Amino acid sequence: MTLRLYNTLTRSVEEFKPSNPDNVVRMYCCGPTVYNYAHIGNLRTYVFEDLLRKTIKRAGFSLKHAMNITDVGHLTSDADDGDDKMLLAAEKEKLSVLEIARKYEDTFFKHTAALNIERPDIVCRATEHVEDMIKFVKKLEDNGYAYVSNGNVYYDTAKFPRYGCLSGQNREELKHGSRVEQDTNKRNPSDFVLWFTVSKFKDQILQWDSPWGRGYPGWHIECSTMAMKYLGERLDIHCGGVDHIAVHHENEIAQSEGYLGHKWCSCWMHGEFLQMKDQKMSKSKGNFITLDTLVEKGYLPEHYRYLCLTSHYRSSLVFSYDNLDAAANAYRNLLGKYKEFGQAATENNSRSENLYQDYLRQFDGFMFDDLKTPQALAVLWAVVKDKEMAAADKYKFLNNIDVLLGLGLAKNLAAETSTSAEIPADIMALVEERKQARINKNWAKSDELRDLLASKGFIVKDLPKNEVEISIA
Ligand code: AMP
Ligand code: ZN
Repeated sequence: MTLRLYNTLTRSVEEFKPSNPDNVVRMYCCGPTVYNYAHIGNLRTYVFEDLLRKTIKRAGFSLKHAMNITDVGHLTSDADDGDDKMLLAAEKEKLSVLEIARKYEDTFFKHTAALNIERPDIVCRATEHVEDMIKFVKKLEDNGYAYVSNGNVYYDTAKFPRYGCLSGQNREELKHGSRVEQDTNKRNPSDFVLWFTVSKFKDQILQWDSPWGRGYPGWHIECSTMAMKYLGERLDIHCGGVDHIAVHHENEIAQSEGYLGHKWCSCWMHGEFLQMKDQKMSKSKGNFITLDTLVEKGYLPEHYRYLCLTSHYRSSLVFSYDNLDAAANAYRNLLGKYKEFGQAATENNSRSENLYQDYLRQFDGFMFDDLKTPQALAVLWAVVKDKEMAAADKYKFLNNIDVLLGLGLAKNLAAETSTSAEIPADIMALVEERKQARINKNWAKSDELRDLLASKGFIVKDLPKNEVEISIA
């Protein structure tokens, strides 16, 4: 089956083909800026990239996937203005800049693991690649794309005629309108800093020696440098959220192609934003929801992942607790069905292989067509409700597709079962006694024991094959 993906560069869904002769897909994703927790909006983008990663592999390709950690250089505006985000956080939390970076990097990976997001093959920190960035900037200077002005090194966007190709805007339109202060050192408004030596921040702690003086890199240079270092000169896919299109990714293209002298990345993919009903979720303003907030309220990380799947990655998704409750209900229902099919599957062998294969083809057809997750979920529910299909095949189907969807069905079922292992022995004895009563069709005794269990705080739900689900009232 062919894999088709939407390319922001061409504004169309295209058949995907790797560009290197070894057929290995090289994918780079912009990673987190680690000065605060990733919010659930950021995490939506990483869920999308995880689905993409798994879909590429499912389509039969080998994959090399790299992601950076921005632990230096990202100002509060994409356009080189504002304050240094890392520095602000360090001052606020009374930690060093690197302590802040490691703290939020660790939490980021805890959250992504909880959402069943696989770790990229290569994770690279900006602070550990500054020498590479300096060499990159030096070559841009040698190639005539960079100039020094008042101590800083700038990229000259006028030298790169394709500037604006990703967002479809010309350089004049890309003036970064939200600028707080005009940088009078720039030759063109869309030029951007490659290397700062004149620091606006007197306390700037992370600084390195360079041919232009002691200083630190601009934000955009890290992604071009590390993507090229780990993935080579021809990138297949570059991802990020839609906010990166107009500035960060335009700048990455200008830097990389100015450096290489040829085209760099063939397919650019962007995840739409998670929106709040009444306000913008903003990491720098601190008004956001984290995965921990959801878990504290009793949701599973997979409830949020399920919510993400209900909407296509190119559509914006409005977050509300009502939407999350609906996703959590659907998930609980699915987990219950998964358990039921699993129990039946042990006694009931596969006998609907054709149906299984048909559904799998439909499911893959939607996922391979630009990750159409809402339609793929509809196939999942058609399988759950199918009256012809054997439970064993439904169970096999759910296990198969969950490798891709990452809903953690097997994991959460095991967690549920281990919780029931903590139920006291006297309660388990009553449950067993009730089971015998039901086998003997002694319904009165069964009801009496159910009421007794309820009076002791345990709710019993009957499942097929005389199995029960016990929960604490
Ligand atoms: P940051 O850590 O701010 O650099 O952002 C990490 C990733 O999250 C980037 O790919 C952003 O484009 C993306 N992102 C930022 N805000 C949102 C949002 N509200 N919804 C979805 N993705 C977002
Ligand atoms: Zn980037």
